[in-house]
Amino acid sequence: MEVIVAKTAGFCFGVERAVDKVYEQIGKTERPIYTYGPIIHNEEVVRDLEEKGVRVIESEEELKALSDGVVVIRSHGVAQAVEEEIQALGLPYVDATCPFVKKIHQLAAESGEQGKVFLLAGDKDHPEVKGILGHCKGENFTVKSNQELVDLLKNHPELRTKPLAFAAQTTFHAGEWEKCLETLKKLCTNAAVFATICNATARRQKEAKTLAQRCDRMIVVGGRDSSNTAKLRDICAEHCETYLIERADELPVFSAGLSVGITAGASTPASIIK
Ligand code: SF4
Repeated sequence: MEVIVAKTAGFCFGVERAVDKVYEQIGKTERPIYTYGPIIHNEEVVRDLEEKGVRVIESEEELKALSDGVVVIRSHGVAQAVEEEIQALGLPYVDATCPFVKKIHQLAAESGEQGKVFLLAGDKDHPEVKGILGHCKGENFTVKSNQELVDLLKNHPELRTKPLAFAAQTTFHAGEWEKCLETLKKLCTNAAVFATICNATARRQKEAKTLAQRCDRMIVVGGRDSSNTAKLRDICAEHCETYLIERADELPVFSAGLSVGITAGASTPASIIK
């Protein structure tokens, strides 16, 4: 059996940086360590951190109840209000927001200050998108597909001529983004476009597609609640039979002679891919 592992499979720069920052704190402080939301979408990593005493805070209520500890902000980032909440508590905190996500926070804030409508391509329920929208200072909309953009511009025809700033969630599907840009070009006269899809994601998606086109089966390793992993699965499934697994014991049995490609989401540690 031929097994090909994608070169771009696994941890990206932002996730590696965030995970490293939490492990650094473990050796550095006696205070309890908390991450605001799971530091990455990978159960194995979150469990390992829990075993080392790192707790996950899930809500602002839990945050407000803290009297001691170090808070680490996850790579997806958080809303401005949450940042202010942490500062108001007077607790030390480490901002592990990926610099690429930080850039979108800035864009969201500046767009409002400049009187532009901020338009984001992304999934409004995703923590990264919630964090980004929490930095907006003016009118803003989120679309998760080109069809939603077409509908938005139909329901709000005034947006066609208003100054717009259009950006994307870092893990937004590259192909869908291109379709959105075509629509924007056709229908809007005053839109500034910011290509904020992370290169790590685009490169991983491109390689996954190439692999899926040449292999008989694809395995995508990653968390079931990770959006970039789900997108990889969708891309691969367009070309061959594809399996999304979280752990090695979920591997299906393949008949001999098949070629199997392996890729993995941005939150999958190398040890699990191996
Ligand atoms: Fe940062 Fe890109 Fe990784 Fe997201 S995928 S954490 S934007 S490096």
